Amino acid sequence: MTGDPLALVLFGRQGAGKGTQCDLLVERTGAAHISTGDMLRAAIAEGTPLGLQAKELLDAGDLVPDELIIGIVRDRLAADDIAAHGWILDGFPRTLAQAEALWALLGPDGIRLALNIDVPLDLVRERMLGRGRADDNDEAIDRRLELYEAETTQAIDFFAEQGRLVTVDGVGTVDEVAARIAAAIDAAG
Ligand code: AMP
Repeated sequence: MTGDPLALVLFGRQGAGKGTQCDLLVERTGAAHISTGDMLRAAIAEGTPLGLQAKELLDAGDLVPDELIIGIVRDRLAADDIAAHGWILDGFPRTLAQAEALWALLGPDGIRLALNIDVPLDLVRERMLGRGRADDNDEAIDRRLELYEAETTQAIDFFAEQGRLVTVDGVGTVDEVAARIAAAIDAAG
């Protein structure tokens, strides 16, 4: 991988292995892993006003409002570590409005690549049921997958229209998928 700080948007259905692959990329590149889901779960655990607002939505598998999550990501991207070490966005953007807001915030040169880790629907469903997280009940899983098809595919299409999207096959071992991702990042320069 090149020495430039990473500026990477990672897409993939819930359960596609985004978190695992982010951890590996963070180890290799030192980029900041920005997971909006992790940030929201931390806010819920701490009982902050944001957490109180978000809890029911997360439990149901619904999306938190765009303005709220866009504000959180904007603040996080403005932090000192970002310019020096780069970033990987995991779980954001999830809607077209979020994608457009990110594009407006960073500009065409501010995002190196949007990468879609593609794992078929039935396989991610199996993986998620095996994972057993607190918000991973059947209904919440179905709702999240439904919202992914209805909303997040529009965000993915947005990056495809900008010529920034690369799709990698997410079926295989962690190492195999990591190698495909590394190759895609290298190819993007
Ligand atoms: P995740 O860990 O990325 O699967 O996110 C868990 C939950 O947090 C989602 O099901 C949503 O309720 C909420 N969430 C995370 N990221 C976003 C986002 N970008 N927009 C709206 N809601 C989000």
